[in-house]
Amino acid sequence: MSDYHILITDGLDGRGQSILRASAKVDYRDSTPAGELMKVITDYDALIVRGQTRVTAAVMDAASRLKVIGRAGVGVDNIDLEAAKKHNVAVVNAPTSTTIAVAELAFGLLLSLAREIPRADAGMKQGQWLKKEFEGVELNGKTLGIIGFGRIGMEVGKRAAAFGMNVVIYDPNVSEHELVDSNAEPVSIQDLFAWSDFISLHLPLNVQTRDLVGPQAFSQMKDGVRIVSTARGGIMDEAALLAALNSGKVAGAALDVFEKEPPGLTELVSHPRVISTPHIGAQTIEAQSRAAEDIASEVLAALQGKPLRWKVA
Ligand code: NAD
Repeated sequence: MSDYHILITDGLDGRGQSILRASAKVDYRDSTPAGELMKVITDYDALIVRGQTRVTAAVMDAASRLKVIGRAGVGVDNIDLEAAKKHNVAVVNAPTSTTIAVAELAFGLLLSLAREIPRADAGMKQGQWLKKEFEGVELNGKTLGIIGFGRIGMEVGKRAAAFGMNVVIYDPNVSEHELVDSNAEPVSIQDLFAWSDFISLHLPLNVQTRDLVGPQAFSQMKDGVRIVSTARGGIMDEAALLAALNSGKVAGAALDVFEKEPPGLTELVSHPRVISTPHIGAQTIEAQSRAAEDIASEVLAALQGKPLRWKVA
């Protein structure tokens, strides 16, 4: 065994742990606040996180031995990439591991919004038979607007086409030839807002996309639009969404991600036309196992100076 020393916070599925333990000394901590992480990080060559641990510039200033940070999943917005670059610390992720899990959750939320499945179940659990109250809508024949047509967006698009939906997409980085087999029509973001009966967000959070779906976007949408966000809190302006729900512009919203997590029992979470889940997009047995395996191999490759498949920075 080498003398690599690896710290895992936020947990890692068993198979990934075994891969790491075969080549390194591995320690575990629960999700650790940046202030605390700064004190312990000095001993480690690699840090593996999921979405909770914030790897700030101050953490990296303190991390004199650190060579690589692995994110067991996709989003790296909890890692300061500029600071990583400055300190010559590689950042790697496991971007393909959770694609299907998130796409299936997004689709489950679309169906849940269309048929109000969670509210119907909540009524049953209170001994109520609210048959007449739950007249839903069909997905068949409706237009789904997908913002961000990368790995997850494309999988959602395939499932939507199988349900008879028309799929329009907005993604400035996807070319026409990448769409040939996709049944998806590229449109401007204004047309996507104006045409969609359902909208699903699948783009990263960054300075360009923060508050992308705000008051102006809502004003361009169809009355009665239904929106799903499994991307990142902060892309959709929650105050603007609440106003749009209360004015009737938005008929329903399903949120897996929030500006602040956990959000607590906010007006949005308690809203009768909002379905919310606690950031469970990637939480399947299959996705967690794949993410752990992928990130373990990638982190070891980085430590051993081997070629990397998923270098983010
Ligand atoms: P991806 O990189 O394959 O796709 C993202 C797409 O968004 C890219 O095609 C990119 O061109 C596009 N994009 C970037 N800026 C845009 C903009 N301004 N407007 C429209 N499109 C834009 O990523 P992915 O694997 O499909 O994941 C998408 C997002 O899903 C991630 O960034 C992450 O935040 C989120 N996610 C959430 C969960 C969860 O648990 N809910 C899990 C995994 C990923």
